[in-house]
Amino acid sequence: MTIKTDSVIIGAGPCGLFQVFELGLLDIQAHVVDSLSQVGGQCSELYPDKPIYDIPALPVCGAQELIDRLMEQISPFNPQFHLGQTVTRLERSDTGRFVLETSAGTRFDTATVILAAGLGAFQPRRLRAAGAEEWEARNIHYRVRDPEKLAGMGIVILGGGDSALDWTLALHGKASRITLVHRRAEYRAQPASVNKMKSLIDGDTLEEFQGHVRSVFTTEGGAFGGLEIVDAESEHHKVEADEVFVFWGLSPNLGPIADWGLDIDKRQVKVDTEKFQTSVPGIFAVGDINTYPGKKKLILSGFHEAALAAFAVQQHLHPDQKVRLQYTTTSPLMHKRLGVSQ
Ligand SMILES: Cc1cc2nc3c(=O)[nH]c(=O)nc-3n(C[C@H](O)[C@H](O)[C@H](O)COP(=O)(O)OP(=O)(O)OC[C@H]3O[C@@H](n4cnc5c(N)ncnc54)[C@H](O)[C@@H]3O)c2cc1C
Repeated sequence: MTIKTDSVIIGAGPCGLFQVFELGLLDIQAHVVDSLSQVGGQCSELYPDKPIYDIPALPVCGAQELIDRLMEQISPFNPQFHLGQTVTRLERSDTGRFVLETSAGTRFDTATVILAAGLGAFQPRRLRAAGAEEWEARNIHYRVRDPEKLAGMGIVILGGGDSALDWTLALHGKASRITLVHRRAEYRAQPASVNKMKSLIDGDTLEEFQGHVRSVFTTEGGAFGGLEIVDAESEHHKVEADEVFVFWGLSPNLGPIADWGLDIDKRQVKVDTEKFQTSVPGIFAVGDINTYPGKKKLILSGFHEAALAAFAVQQHLHPDQKVRLQYTTTSPLMHKRLGVSQ
């Protein structure tokens, strides 16, 4: 099924979310796609608990709190979110509209596209050890889809952060055996989770191991056997596993955006500073993804860009109409759109 719309925003970071607001004030409804399973971009993924001090009129605001506030602010405009999917294809049709497709098969026919894609789509850091690639999605995974299917299995979990520890604890007792492999003795996860994990180690159902993965080994019959791991003394160990889960965090990847024929300078999409339009009319870019003389990668810069881009989107959609600036304080139309009464 194709979703026909006026506007698709790629990226649900702070700038993509504020873009929803600015479009909403102009009565333009937006669909928002993000490769992460939650909104918030870098704020929620990289530093949710850190305080931000340079958001206008908020002397201090937690990064996740900022995202929560933005979600509240945009709620009157009822944005449609398509999370956990990466936009993989964008093509301009003969009519000047765009066809956009995601990794989950969602398809849009849209008049405008706004890239709010930050540093690119967040994707799991891959296990690059010898032989690993051919077992990806079969025995090597980057997320747990169905924990129940792991009952009675031998599992290796790679990582030392919250995801690795949370899944170790969640699967303990379900899997027959878990080996947690981390490069160092110190973990980055919450101390309470680390203490709990340590208390469960019995060398049978749960074991921890320090070292780095060298390669995948197979059984005599050619089936997946497990991982060969090298410890700090350069000793090689074969750790048997039915399934391996890699939780090494996420890294941003510009990925397909680089192939969409846009003018790009050092992994940033070039825009003008009147409309924040890219080299392709109808495609706009706001926030960390764009570049122009004097660009500063700050959230407040992205908010300003989103406001001007919204007016430009409006003009693109209705070239014959004059776009009037209206104050949210005094405009009855703005109040109606915001769902507030005065
Ligand atoms: C530790 C740290 C501290 C910071 N502190 C501050 C601060 O104090 N003040 C400040 O102003 N800024 C700060 N920043 C920078 C700020 O976080 C960024 O400027 C801001 O997040 C940019 O927002 P954005 O919406 O443009 O992009 P992002 O937050 O990067 O979000 C982009 C989203 O787009 C998604 N995406 C990308 N490509 C695709 C695709 N093809 N398909 C689907 N989804 C896609 C990504 O998954 C991501 O969720 C800090 C950054 C870091 C790392």
